[in-house]
Amino acid sequence: MVTGFTVSTTTAAVRDLRAMTLAEAEAFAQELGWPRFRGEQIWRWVHAKLVRTWDEMTNLPREVRQTLAERATLGQLTIAEVQESRDGTRKLRLLTRDGKSIETVLIPDGDKTTQCISSQVGCAVDCQFCATAKMGLVRNLDAGEIVDQVYLARRLLAEVDPGRRISNLVYMGMGEPLHNYDELVRSLRILGDDKGVGLSMRRITVSTSGMVPRLHRLGKEDVRPNLAVSLNAPNDEIRDQIMPINRKWNIAALLEALRAYPLEQRRRITFEYVLLADVNDSLEHAGQLARLLRGIKCKVNLIPWNPHPEAPYQRPAPHVIDAFQNECKRRGLPTYLRTPRGDDIDAACGQLANRSNGQPVVPLRLRKLPMAPELPAD
Ligand code: SAH
Ligand code: SF4
Repeated sequence: MVTGFTVSTTTAAVRDLRAMTLAEAEAFAQELGWPRFRGEQIWRWVHAKLVRTWDEMTNLPREVRQTLAERATLGQLTIAEVQESRDGTRKLRLLTRDGKSIETVLIPDGDKTTQCISSQVGCAVDCQFCATAKMGLVRNLDAGEIVDQVYLARRLLAEVDPGRRISNLVYMGMGEPLHNYDELVRSLRILGDDKGVGLSMRRITVSTSGMVPRLHRLGKEDVRPNLAVSLNAPNDEIRDQIMPINRKWNIAALLEALRAYPLEQRRRITFEYVLLADVNDSLEHAGQLARLLRGIKCKVNLIPWNPHPEAPYQRPAPHVIDAFQNECKRRGLPTYLRTPRGDDIDAACGQLANRSNGQPVVPLRLRKLPMAPELPAD
């Protein structure tokens, strides 16, 4: 990071301001011998004004900035690559400070833009149909690395598509968010704070493969996002095969946790159901699914499987998908078909595995953004 201050090598712990909630930043300011308001002032620079250097924090006295340069970091990601799909979807490959690659996807839909963010590098859950699973779990992201995906996307849009704002956020990129529970909740507190970017929890959805004890815990938090649950099978026999997590927490345990989850008024749980040819796509399966979910306030997103190398699956034929959806509807289960977005650049659901397809798009204008050093200057 470029800063006008000398960074000394004192032994005092260096803390990352990007990974702190407002309350944590206020406590940190007090630890440094400053009043609480100083913590809020600094926090707003990082999480509302989205600055990336101490120098930009112009209303802070020079000594304060000097101390910050010694005792804190603004841990941040850099942009390694931006790819743009035929349908306008953009995939950003971002680098952490220890050189790990993660991905986030911006999906335009009319006036709205949904951002899909990652919560881990890779994933430990090992769902058989998912490209991220093939990476295994490399490490958790910290809250700073989670929220910085949103901040960088905002800055990117301001540069390349002014007027477009991120309206919805989904934790559906790489990783299992509930496996990284503390940093997930911390990131929700940061993003939901009105003194920062102030995203409403109604516009945030956390998607999980079903870590049941943590669903119970999330239901008791003061920040409570919408829930999406990757169900993907109408019975334990199939779910055991394609999602090994089901052998630990089966469908009955999962549904019990979801029934207990305190939903805000007029909210529903979203179930994701990846359609795999000849595995979970028959009319009988549709019937089982409708019976299973009866009485739960929910909707189902049907996601025709997105291909990736070396996976032993096929996407069902269009008429099979239609028939499945019609059968669900006939039985009163609200069902939506998700058309793949960004699949030409491997940005669709389940395709995130740090691959790049075709030419990376790096508009010259982006040079104002924090780009990873290995990128050519032009
Ligand atoms: N780990 C979380 C969130 C990330 S996965 C979870 O599993 O919910 C996001 C969604 O992509 C999940 O619903 C998953 O079922 C789906 N998915 C994974 N691989 C896919 C693929 N190849 N094609 C379509 N959807 C896929
Ligand atoms: Fe992990 Fe979700 Fe992929 Fe399963 S579907 S391996 S939980 S990212």
